Amino acid sequence: MKFGGTSVANLERMRVAASYVKEEVDRGNEVIVIVSAMAGETNKLVETVNSVSPYFDAREYDAVVSSGENVTAGILALILQDMRIPARSWQGWQVPITTTSSHSSAQIMDIATDNLNAKFQEGLKVAVVAGFQGISQENRTTTLGRGGSDLTAVAFAAKFDCERCDIFTDVDGIYTADPRIVFKARKLNRIAYDEMLELASLGAKVLQTRSVQMAMAHQVPVYVRSSFSRKPGTLVCNEDEKMENRTISGIAHSRDEAKISIISVADRPGVAATIFGALSDKGINVDMIVQNISESGRTDITFSCPIEHAPIAKKSLLDAKKDNLANFKDIVLDLEVCKVSVVGIGMRSQSGVAAKMFAILANEGINIKVISTSEIKISVLVDRKYMELAVQALHDKFELHANRITPK
Ligand code: ASP
Ligand code: MG
Repeated sequence: MKFGGTSVANLERMRVAASYVKEEVDRGNEVIVIVSAMAGETNKLVETVNSVSPYFDAREYDAVVSSGENVTAGILALILQDMRIPARSWQGWQVPITTTSSHSSAQIMDIATDNLNAKFQEGLKVAVVAGFQGISQENRTTTLGRGGSDLTAVAFAAKFDCERCDIFTDVDGIYTADPRIVFKARKLNRIAYDEMLELASLGAKVLQTRSVQMAMAHQVPVYVRSSFSRKPGTLVCNEDEKMENRTISGIAHSRDEAKISIISVADRPGVAATIFGALSDKGINVDMIVQNISESGRTDITFSCPIEHAPIAKKSLLDAKKDNLANFKDIVLDLEVCKVSVVGIGMRSQSGVAAKMFAILANEGINIKVISTSEIKISVLVDRKYMELAVQALHDKFELHANRITPK
């Protein structure tokens, strides 16, 4: 059972969280609980580090930023003990959760089971583990990247062969679109790992992307539910017949994208490699890419990236030009775009989804700037001012509100 920041925001919320844990214990289960820091706490710690030094040492960043979870783990254990439930807390190093040394974005290498299992043997009912953190081979505390306690939870569920991984949050599941944008958005009872993976990486914020990858790789059923309501949640699991029959499952959006066009680059082998090499050296997360048809040996290349990466992207391209590594005429930045995507495993077996999507957008007078696809998703870049309209129109015309099963 994993409780996110809002579910452990204060003592009152932690008592509610403990009551959910108690229910599982009363059913005869042994429980591993993974906790986040209290809501807002990690952000505060990050700000504090930044205010001391913008060029901080990543090892000390992790020492500070991981601390929020230590507090919630200890307090939740105390609350559970108070309810006469045998409970004990663990920090990452105590388990230990061993990770790589890439501080602030470490990968889990292994989770030891002996320590916790020995305690369960002795009668422990609940192990409360601080999420988001681990220990490197150099014996330093690491963190797994923002939102990383989802990953901790799924990794424990896999390692301990748990029946399920329940992720408690402040929304009651995965919706067909963001309910704040689409009034008629519908909660899905089940969603396939592949679809959840696309939705998470395309902007749905409920689950961390890496945790979905891990769940899929280890076949961990993940149940997303709210600690604020008793409504049933959404099960993330293998695809089934019913899911395959729906055309699309959800619409994702990501507001803060940038589009960058490199005008008139030479159309010959190695040019794209140089350009995108320069961008990747600076850690820029390039997403969609299009290259125009070449006329007279020159072409334009357009790509998208998160808006906060745009200034560095521009600078690294100009630097590459100055150093004669890349030769182009101009760079054009468009900072007023967003990405809207439709996702569904049904696309594998149904044709015409792209045509329908483009027609719906055209009908609203929305111009498409860049397109990219995978087997189960189509993403378009459009002007940001049309984001809500695009999401609403697609949701409406694909009839996502109407739990409708389309025959194959
Ligand atoms: N507290 C960490 C964060 O805010 C980890 C997590 O909550 O998943 O990113
Ligand atoms: Mg989270």
